[in-house]
Amino acid sequence: MNKPLAISGASIGFDESALEDHTVLVDNGNIIDVLPTNRVPQNTHQLVLNGGTLLPGFIDLQVNGGGGVLFNHNPCIETIETICSAHTKLGTCRLLVTLISSDDATTNAAISAAIEAEEKGIPGFLGLHLEGPHLSVARRGAHSEHHIRAMSQADVDTLCRAKARLSYFMITVAPESVSPEQIEQLSSAGIVVSLGHSNASFEQAKKAFARGARCATHLYNAMSPLGHREPGMVGAVLTQHDAYAGLIADGVHVHKAAIKTALAMKSGPGKLFAVSDAMATTGSDIKEFELDGRTISRKNARLELSDGTLAGADTDLYSSFNYLVEKVGVDRSEAIRMVSSYPSACVGAMDYLGSLIPGHAANLIYIDQEARLMQVWVDGQAQLTE
Ligand SMILES: [Zn+2]
Repeated sequence: MNKPLAISGASIGFDESALEDHTVLVDNGNIIDVLPTNRVPQNTHQLVLNGGTLLPGFIDLQVNGGGGVLFNHNPCIETIETICSAHTKLGTCRLLVTLISSDDATTNAAISAAIEAEEKGIPGFLGLHLEGPHLSVARRGAHSEHHIRAMSQADVDTLCRAKARLSYFMITVAPESVSPEQIEQLSSAGIVVSLGHSNASFEQAKKAFARGARCATHLYNAMSPLGHREPGMVGAVLTQHDAYAGLIADGVHVHKAAIKTALAMKSGPGKLFAVSDAMATTGSDIKEFELDGRTISRKNARLELSDGTLAGADTDLYSSFNYLVEKVGVDRSEAIRMVSSYPSACVGAMDYLGSLIPGHAANLIYIDQEARLMQVWVDGQAQLTE
């Protein structure tokens, strides 16, 4: 029988909430205790770190690709493995693999691949996020107009059947393409309904929240903005206190003053969290890739279609965390929650994901004194060679 792993020598967490001289005890992929180092049992495998900080592994609710591949190109189990493997090396210990609006065959393949990934327990896999195709053409961003359409009852049935086999399932919809009744059906089935790629009015968005939507997708980007007479979807999200919102914190998608505004408004229970919206480039050195026959180019930390439309982000959650702390001035402990416990709470996984506490999965990252990522553990398994 394997001995429990005892990880010591680093601070656990940041600043006033940090635990010093404590050890994280890991067994069978879970954190079984966090205790003073002088009380660690004898019969353990000891790993003594040289200073630095242990933090909860990141949770990313919007990941289109990584490691050179895009989920849309070939939505199968191997693609999910490649994406998860690229992101776990960057500190993301659980992710929702995300399909950008596509045709029915591709969407069905994505659902089947996600179910298979859950059954096989692919390291790093949390669930599926379908971003579309029930969106607004007016706010499509990089989504192909040809795929965008209203939701039918058959779609609702397909999605609810998929949810029965997926623990975590998020879908981004625009209220213009989905009825309030459909939102209620999806959320009652346990699907996390997130509003986005939408030109909805403030009232339309509020009605969608009242019927069960609980999140917004990449707040500010591809949604009706906050105007002083028509507060739009942004106004609805910022004033809906129980709604969560994902945000792309890469220094390209959203101005830091807009991030500060949202942080001031989202005081809870719904919170603002970071998503990468990563594409194929993350964790690879490719310079361009295709989406629906269009080339997306990587330059100056941006991913763009030929007309300059942003098409996902060239980032990862560790970079987002650093951006939030260094450029936006977010407190380090809060920035960590924005990439761990808040996304976990958004999808209802707080009982076992997102914190370094007994009973949670042993998803940890270790950064040294210079804030360099030194090690990542997914379910207790080290991801980087030491
Ligand atoms: Zn999007």
